[in-house]
Amino acid sequence: MQRPTFIQENISLAELTTFKLNVVAEYFGNIATTDQLAAAVAWAKANEITFFILSGGSNTIFDGERYEGLVLHIDIRDYKLLDSYDDDQILEVGAGEDWDEVVARSIDDGLSGLELLSAIPGLCGSAPVQNIGAYGREFDQIFESLDALDTHRNELVQLGKDDCQFSYRTSIFKSTARGRYIITAVRMRLNRRAPDPPTYKDLVRYFGERVIGQPTAMQIREAVISIRQAKFPNPQQVPNVGSFFKNPIIDREHFERLEKTFPQINEPRPGWSQPARWFLPNDQVKIGAGWLIEELDLKGYVHGHVKVDDNHALVLENTGQASSKELLELRDIIVQRVYEKFQIKLEVEPDIVSSATSKPQA
Ligand SMILES: Cc1cc2nc3c(=O)[nH]c(=O)nc-3n(C[C@H](O)[C@H](O)[C@H](O)COP(=O)(O)OP(=O)(O)OC[C@H]3O[C@@H](n4cnc5c(N)ncnc54)[C@H](O)[C@@H]3O)c2cc1C
Repeated sequence: MQRPTFIQENISLAELTTFKLNVVAEYFGNIATTDQLAAAVAWAKANEITFFILSGGSNTIFDGERYEGLVLHIDIRDYKLLDSYDDDQILEVGAGEDWDEVVARSIDDGLSGLELLSAIPGLCGSAPVQNIGAYGREFDQIFESLDALDTHRNELVQLGKDDCQFSYRTSIFKSTARGRYIITAVRMRLNRRAPDPPTYKDLVRYFGERVIGQPTAMQIREAVISIRQAKFPNPQQVPNVGSFFKNPIIDREHFERLEKTFPQINEPRPGWSQPARWFLPNDQVKIGAGWLIEELDLKGYVHGHVKVDDNHALVLENTGQASSKELLELRDIIVQRVYEKFQIKLEVEPDIVSSATSKPQA
């Protein structure tokens, strides 16, 4: 089978990922239609070429300087208001639409539901993959269904909420069906009512200070953007992938031992609105990974050309010519030190991709 003409060879991915590691893809295709997608996958499978799906590259780290295989950059565009039921409105978007542009446009269209998820980098097709979330809103709360190419059966399928098995920062696309589905369109159930007032502490404080009791979706969006800008370094200025580690979840017994040795875990840090621990159902406790790293005094720590951000301990940044080796070494240093001090194993949030691990499951 001949290589489709839109697939190129030896393309740098540095500008397609927000950490800007200089990685070269053996093959690369920009995918604007489902037909192109099907053709590219058919070609890769016929030639036993590993492939990887790249959208905004804000949650992806390539391990190594070269990706031996095919990188497919999803650029399928669409924005459509579909059915409405009472106050609910279904919005369908192409997987290649920019997430934050869709959030802004939905608010302009008089819809609420996405405002708390403002300013999360990336494209719409990735939102279900890691079940994005922020400020008390998780993507699965507004998810309706999605279309995907099932690369095992070579057909387009529609998946609903139960199929996707969403939970905290994960889904079937990151776990049991990793590499199987390529999402082409996403449908969300938004509504035309005014949004409920936010309950997340930073937002409650923001609106309290401005004496706004019932903020509009646009006001909530502006608040989220302003809080995020103060917290996260902008990847366009400082290359990074946002939070590098997930907040670990431990059991109650482990937490009780932890609070005995580190009672400060029950106090908010100066400038923080709440302590970095959240009590969950089933006797589980979520711990702020940033708090653990701060306790080790690692803010501002430099390893080669990679650095722990000066203000946000969860963010690792590329100070210039960083290599994936340096980044993964710093990951290991942090994971090991956190484990030694707290007996908590940190897990990395972005997808770490090597040619060997990205092969679709048989
Ligand atoms: C500054 C900053 C702040 C962030 N804040 C948040 C936050 O508040 N909350 C949050 O949840 N995340 C946050 N993130 C992480 C990131 O923005 C999200 O995970 C986002 O959804 C990633 O989108 P992307 O298009 O860049 O994904 P990519 O990095 O391109 O891809 C991520 C994964 O999804 C897979 N994938 C991508 N597109 C598809 C598709 N169409 N079909 C199948 N698989 C696909 C890829 O193969 C990869 O495994 C932040 C990142 C940064 C840099």
